[in-house]
Amino acid sequence: MSDSLLIVGSVAYDTVETPNGARMDALGGSATFAAAAASLFTPVDLVGVVGDDFNVADLDFMTARGINLAGLEVRKGGKTFRWSGVYETDVNIRHTRSTDLNVFADFNPTLPASYGSDDVVFLGNMLPSLQQRVLEQTTNPLWIALDTMDLWINTTRDELLDVMREVQMIIINDSEARLLTGESNLVRAAHRVLELGPTAVVVKKGEHGVFLVMEEGYAALPALPLENVVDPTGAGDAFAGGMLGALNATRDFSLDGLRRAMAYGTATASLTCEAFSVDALKSANRDELNHRYNRLRKIASLPPVSG
Ligand code: AMP
Repeated sequence: MSDSLLIVGSVAYDTVETPNGARMDALGGSATFAAAAASLFTPVDLVGVVGDDFNVADLDFMTARGINLAGLEVRKGGKTFRWSGVYETDVNIRHTRSTDLNVFADFNPTLPASYGSDDVVFLGNMLPSLQQRVLEQTTNPLWIALDTMDLWINTTRDELLDVMREVQMIIINDSEARLLTGESNLVRAAHRVLELGPTAVVVKKGEHGVFLVMEEGYAALPALPLENVVDPTGAGDAFAGGMLGALNATRDFSLDGLRRAMAYGTATASLTCEAFSVDALKSANRDELNHRYNRLRKIASLPPVSG
């Protein structure tokens, strides 16, 4: 038994250009964003790999926040995963310039014995066979969530479907849901994903928010309106991290519990967009998140019918 949230994924250096500026070799990666967000709610056990070019001091803020880095392998002579992207004036449009997997190419996720058995698990975006390897090392978690991307849907579909059958929640963006199911209608696509085996499917729609489908019903939330998007990199991972961090703190997997957690994920995603890299998540605190949660509550609530 452990009260920590297990997060497995990439730890990277990102080079990013947005209409608001540029950053070279900034801290990034799916596990990094997810852990930075989740640690605002709950202790985190992180599993990832970096090269010996990685400045471990970049993660000091994580240790200070209760993120356990015993599962972060520092590969001697290896180079850290690097990703580079550029955003158009419409920041919803992103082009990947380069992806250098480096040490992430032969990542062999290993859960240290000291992590114990974490009941809530986030499998960040990576090769489905690696997600499977993580599951083989866990003991009956209560709630496993999985993220993926178009690359794995296109190249390792069968392996991905196998892992999907073993998880409770799939977090996917709108275009990936369409690609995975061949359904152009998003509601139908989400239902097809639900038929693959999970208890809940969360579909991310960028600045248009997010919706959740499960047997008990639907939940939907808008994104928090932002007047200035500095860098949206990692918003999807910060959403997942915030949502799972909040879920791990309550362990309430009902529709209402998931709706509340989804609102906290929306709050951590909005923070991420307001600065480069993990900068905004680093300086945030629970009060800031509760403030955003309450703003979202107001935006999302409706008065009774008028007639
Ligand atoms: P998002 O903006 O939520 O799609 O996440 C972007 C983050 O994902 C960046 O910090 C990248 O370092 C990381 N990333 C990009 N491509 C990959 C990949 N193929 N595998 C794992 N992580 C990736």
